[in-house]
Amino acid sequence: MPLPDSVLVHAPATLSNLGCGFDVFGLALAAPYDTIRLRRTGAPGVRIRHLDAYNLPTDPARNVAGVALLALLAAVPEAVGFEMEITKGIKPGSGVGSSAASAAGAVVAANALLGNRFSQLELVEFAMAGEALASGARHADNVAPAIFGGFTVVRALEPATDIVALPAPTLWVAVVHPQIEIKTKDARQVLPAAVPLGLAVRQWANVAGLVAGFLTADYGLISRSLDDYIVEPARAPLIPGLAEARRRALAAGALGGGISGSGPSIFMLNRDEPTAHAVAAALGSVFAELGIEFNLYVGTVAPEGARVVAE
Ligand code: ADP
Repeated sequence: MPLPDSVLVHAPATLSNLGCGFDVFGLALAAPYDTIRLRRTGAPGVRIRHLDAYNLPTDPARNVAGVALLALLAAVPEAVGFEMEITKGIKPGSGVGSSAASAAGAVVAANALLGNRFSQLELVEFAMAGEALASGARHADNVAPAIFGGFTVVRALEPATDIVALPAPTLWVAVVHPQIEIKTKDARQVLPAAVPLGLAVRQWANVAGLVAGFLTADYGLISRSLDDYIVEPARAPLIPGLAEARRRALAAGALGGGISGSGPSIFMLNRDEPTAHAVAAALGSVFAELGIEFNLYVGTVAPEGARVVAE
């Protein structure tokens, strides 16, 4: 079968950290997602057009999707290039993996145009080059779920990237994105340099509990295990309304949740769709009262990551 010259890819938003799993856990969401049209050309290099209003850079060296494609092209011996059209469904800087979605979508699309010669793990490596542009560090906690789908554990980045992709049980996710700006630098600066052993023990007990809860679809265990004792207390002051949002979400039936990525988005996991809508309304009510604009998302976990939806 001849290879397609052009593919259309959807690349999902992702939650990173997921409560207790700072820099380790990730979860792919069914919505929102970025849409990427990629065409193979004979002219080497990458050209980018944006079909949205976010004014992101079109210089491939300054766009996470461009950097990810350039990393992939460096591993391709033949003379090929790409034309890419990006339509962002995920607002940049929202904390639900906007940059990771574009980077993941771009390399999944390129792989399809090149006969799927790279493994998903290799695609994560290319997409991480893009993430390094957005955040200054290579990290996979958003690109891993954006490529593998479901629930992912970044077990190690050194000496080799080791990602464990696990199925997630049926869950409905409610996310509120309050329109406040948190600089990634500030979100990193507030982190503690050292952690008391007692807190570390509680945290890794939750990490083990959450993984077991996901694997056995034990919603009670998931609910008891989500809390983050280390990072969230340090970052909470950056997000007004966080404590009240959690209180109202739990009262509306949420299993639990926390800050998504480095914020400002807040996520809550729920057993079913009606609860997720009630929880989203509860989250929104807090920011409405604070006079802070916000967007709400409600959706399931995506079992698959970025994927070709049309040629
Ligand atoms: P999020 O946490 O939602 O992923 P990030 O802070 O990781 O947001 O990434 C957003 C940053 O990356 C912004 O500064 C944005 O300008 C930059 N960026 C460059 N290219 C892209 C792209 N294709 N999609 C999203 N963000 C991009």
